Amino acid sequence: MVKPFVPQLIYVEPRALEYPLGQKLVDKFWGMGIEIRETTSHNHIRNLPGDNHFQKYRNAKSTLVVGVRKTLKFDTSKPSAEYAIPFATGCMGHCHYCYLQTTMGSKPYIRTYVNTDEIFDAAAAYMEERAPEITRFEASCTSDIVGVDHLTHTLKKAIEFFGRSVYGRLRFVTKFEHVDHLLDAEHNGRTRFRFSINDDYVIKYFEPGTSRLNERINAAVKVAEAGYPLGFIVAPIYLHDDWKNGYHEMFEKLKDALPRFAKRDLTFEMIQHRFTKPAKRVIQENYPMTKLELDESKRKWKWGRYGIGKYVYTSEEQEDIKDTLGNYIHQYFPESKIEYFT
Ligand code: SF4
Repeated sequence: MVKPFVPQLIYVEPRALEYPLGQKLVDKFWGMGIEIRETTSHNHIRNLPGDNHFQKYRNAKSTLVVGVRKTLKFDTSKPSAEYAIPFATGCMGHCHYCYLQTTMGSKPYIRTYVNTDEIFDAAAAYMEERAPEITRFEASCTSDIVGVDHLTHTLKKAIEFFGRSVYGRLRFVTKFEHVDHLLDAEHNGRTRFRFSINDDYVIKYFEPGTSRLNERINAAVKVAEAGYPLGFIVAPIYLHDDWKNGYHEMFEKLKDALPRFAKRDLTFEMIQHRFTKPAKRVIQENYPMTKLELDESKRKWKWGRYGIGKYVYTSEEQEDIKDTLGNYIHQYFPESKIEYFT
């Protein structure tokens, strides 16, 4: 079992104290005996402890900034939702392949935003604009929000906010098992709770600091029993020796653990491993001993967002992944839906 995240150091932006949640969090962290520092803006955090990049990076991932979200214009979030809803950025996990390493650059600390009502108001305006179409919001584009929510309960509030909405749906994904405080949230079936799963090899070698497969599955069972619509993201699908058996075992475990009713309304998303040249450089700097295979010559090049090419598996390998994993899913979860493969 991975312990629930406890930050080693807290930074507070002064404006955060104007919000009840900001005040509450500072009191809470003070009571927990965690060092609290003030910062005018998270952009000014420069003196994180550590003698070198390696230490600073690790310390940053144990640092939590209590701040205010200024930009209330939401990014789009295809293919899983219409918009990304920003409650937090950064993550305490250490997945070697994680794209946050490149997108967060020199600021890998975790930020939680306390102006939640303003974020909900912005979401309400987006919903209104599209009504009566349903608008889906993805809450885990820039963080693993469940990993920090046992401290903030922001996600719980969001689940209840969307539970009361007519045209809104919330989705998020996690690799953490700390879901207990979310089980009694009044979700009204409007939140799809997803777990990111992988086979034992990938979790063992590339996902340190996150919950193991069995723990994620146990948490998923609790979530299903609490009546949430459930989903799984198989990501990143990674081709290692004996990957077909590895993924077969993973789906088998899932089939054995999930109650029958949970298998009826189940979604799967499948994302193959990919990397960009800038990501490769950052990964090798942050995790120099990684076994992650990042050989461009073995991959197919594909146009990515912002014009940066990414390296994906060859067309034949992609077909093999789709067939193999698709068959496992159809065999064990015939009533489920595969939302996409990318
Ligand atoms: Fe990145 Fe998710 Fe791993 Fe966190 S749990 S490091 S967000 S891949």
